[in-house]
Amino acid sequence: MTPRPAVEATRVLVVGAGPVGLLLAGDLGQYGVNVVLADRLAEPMAESRASQLGARTMELLGQRGLVEEFGTLEHEPAGHFAGLSFDARAAGSRYAGNWKVPQFRTEAVLGDRALASGADLRREHELHGLDVTDDAVVAEFRTPAGPRTLRAEYLVGCDGAASTVRGLAGFALARGAAGRELLRADVAGIDVPGHRFARFERGFAASARRADGVTRVMVHASGRPPVHRTGPPSFDEVAEAWETVTGENIADGTPLWLDAFDDAWAQATRYRRGRVLLAGDAAHAHMPIGGQALNLGLQDAANLGWKLAAQVHGWAPPALLDSYHDERHPVGSRVIDNVRAQALLQFGGAATDPVRQVLAEILDRPGPRAAFAGLLSGLDVRYDVGGEGAAHLGTRLPDLELTSDGTRTTVARLLGEGRAVLLDLTGDGSRAAQLRAVADGWSGRVRVVDAHCAAAAPADGAAFLLRPDGHVVWTDLAPVPLREALRRWFGEPGALARRP
Ligand SMILES: Cc1cc2nc3c(=O)[nH]c(=O)nc-3n(C[C@H](O)[C@H](O)[C@H](O)COP(=O)(O)OP(=O)(O)OC[C@H]3O[C@@H](n4cnc5c(N)ncnc54)[C@H](O)[C@@H]3O)c2cc1C
Repeated sequence: MTPRPAVEATRVLVVGAGPVGLLLAGDLGQYGVNVVLADRLAEPMAESRASQLGARTMELLGQRGLVEEFGTLEHEPAGHFAGLSFDARAAGSRYAGNWKVPQFRTEAVLGDRALASGADLRREHELHGLDVTDDAVVAEFRTPAGPRTLRAEYLVGCDGAASTVRGLAGFALARGAAGRELLRADVAGIDVPGHRFARFERGFAASARRADGVTRVMVHASGRPPVHRTGPPSFDEVAEAWETVTGENIADGTPLWLDAFDDAWAQATRYRRGRVLLAGDAAHAHMPIGGQALNLGLQDAANLGWKLAAQVHGWAPPALLDSYHDERHPVGSRVIDNVRAQALLQFGGAATDPVRQVLAEILDRPGPRAAFAGLLSGLDVRYDVGGEGAAHLGTRLPDLELTSDGTRTTVARLLGEGRAVLLDLTGDGSRAAQLRAVADGWSGRVRVVDAHCAAAAPADGAAFLLRPDGHVVWTDLAPVPLREALRRWFGEPGALARRP
């Protein structure tokens, strides 16, 4: 009889080494959490897929020192809502606008960081079985070397839209069926005019020629229902739809990549079931309009990493890990809603013209421009952190330029080491001493920084308690005492047995 392989153990198992799993594993590794990252693929994915990073995601990457790793990035100052262009620089962020980077490159940068932080990456590990008890999660993998079993305290499913983790762990899905389908292709050897989200009488078409001469075409022929597919469309199908909609012939081109997607959406009703959590496309999936899917998933990971690390290290307050669902599920629903609204406006035909007209006019004004830029990038996300009245409570603090101890720094740099920050901008020595005295009990988890802000300090307070993900959970003007806020987010005061 062949002996059964020994069961290996890890503290956290992340299934799925796509961008979301890689960011999460990197964060956990940085917090000193023993993490295994398993993926069924033998090699990283090589497609361009989601090729735009938004301002909030860039801020989170900047905080981790990763923006430089991308080298020079192409900046796209325009955003769009259902194809209605507007200047996305209206959002208050040093990274306002969109940044062009193919998904395989994003994965490469996040992958290097995950490995450098100590994550144990296991390729050719396909999850197919799961046993979740009160104490642990036991995962069964198929590998080329035979079955493998791994035991973990927590499991995070970052395994994409068809998530195996979600199915095996019994998560429920809310979903909407597909009503329309888009075909797209990268084609060499064609010369068609550039169409930016163009609406024709017979449908929708977009085309853009890349520097290497390859043209990406995307088309929806009005009234055609989605097709059940087991693989990509044929190029004949794409060329026929393109000609029907635009009257242009691309049939002589050479297809390099073919894809079809529809407007179905799905969202897990809970993002946590006991020891199992979901993030990224495993938690929410929708039509890739406006490049929000990947950004949403990366922002899930940034919300979850520090909370899960706190849980594993034993200092998390009781509700901290549940706050991941409470905070991120509404954000996911909001993105799905705006994507559905965009699909209606983009593909709804002439009946939507008056609404588009009104929206176009509104988007020409600075206030609405900033609001839409905030909505589509995630910059406007505000969590319910208790207390009311202070403008920054629950939002991320903008990346202010600061001087501390005579050295220039920024909010992002202060957050870079992964701890919470109590940022005192009062310039008042006795106030600073008071804040330090209160925060002293949390010294391993919360870093206290006195600084001077070069620009005018934000209007609603001159001292801020920031979580490691940059969201403000207390300010001078919040009615909640600082000690209470520290307890709520960073547990009981006292020495830490392990690093935060
Ligand atoms: C063909 C395609 C084109 C896309 N185009 C766009 C676009 O143009 N714009 C846009 O915004 N978004 C696009 N998306 C969506 C975007 O790529 C996703 O939002 C993003 O990849 C989500 O990242 P993730 O890490 O959550 O999941 P994924 O990137 O899907 O990664 C999941 C990982 O889990 C692994 N995995 C799955 N099941 C198992 C298992 N049982 N065991 C072990 N490993 C497993 C997979 O191998 C994969 O590496 C596209 C997606 C696809 C598939």
